[in-house]
Amino acid sequence: MNIDIATLFPEMLENYLSQSIVGRARAKDIFTVKCHDIRAYTKDKHRRVDDTPYSEQKGMLMQCDPIFNCYEAVTEGREKPHVIYMSPQGKTLTQQRCRELAAMDNIFILCGHYEGVDERIIETLVDEEISIGDYVLTGGELPALVLVDAVVRMLDGTLSQPDCYEDESHYNGLLEYPQYTRPEVWHDMRVPEILLSGHHANIKKWRHEQALITTAKKRPELLEKLELTDEDLAIIHKVVDFDK
Ligand code: SAH
Repeated sequence: MNIDIATLFPEMLENYLSQSIVGRARAKDIFTVKCHDIRAYTKDKHRRVDDTPYSEQKGMLMQCDPIFNCYEAVTEGREKPHVIYMSPQGKTLTQQRCRELAAMDNIFILCGHYEGVDERIIETLVDEEISIGDYVLTGGELPALVLVDAVVRMLDGTLSQPDCYEDESHYNGLLEYPQYTRPEVWHDMRVPEILLSGHHANIKKWRHEQALITTAKKRPELLEKLELTDEDLAIIHKVVDFDK
């Protein structure tokens, strides 16, 4: 997978993208990512990339030309990428959408800043607007990192085994079951006996039950989207009052 990110602040992204799990996946060539400085593509002699919005005195808006020139230069002679604009007006990012994006070969992410970008650049270039939640940030850099992190995590080879993420919250619509590590007893609290039993089938069943219970307690609305068996419902009803 190849990811290009257009931003006014490439250094903000580079640091994160070269560390830890994402950095290792990048070093192993599981994906490539390049951060492009939009300011390098302005033809203005003062290197301007923004201006005040028409009919408003407040704030600055990123202009079309530097973004467009950056896109053209980066994608010249290449297959058209899927172009995403990080925006609070987009659809909220989900694990499901991350999984779909992880199957794509070429993604181009545009990060806005200040008041955002001129609407015409969205009309001209953007295939999809993605939000990371219903609140407004100062720029698209953190949202772009959130997106790249969540997508790269699902590429083959990033995590040691696919079940690292397949068992996790949101992959199958449920939250993850509780997990424990050493020591066996901590502040008089024991690790659930079943996890020490070595009985794989029972452990699997326990984990599924715990995932149902955790979801019912913390995010009951997630269960509404799932097809639950009578057995699942019985488990949930034993612990929480959940009407489906
Ligand atoms: N004026 C815009 C908000 C601009 S915020 C509006 O009201 O819709 C500045 C930039 O930060 C945006 O261009 C976008 O790239 C990014 N941004 C802010 N909040 C975001 C969010 N919740 N999700 C994704 N990107 C966001």
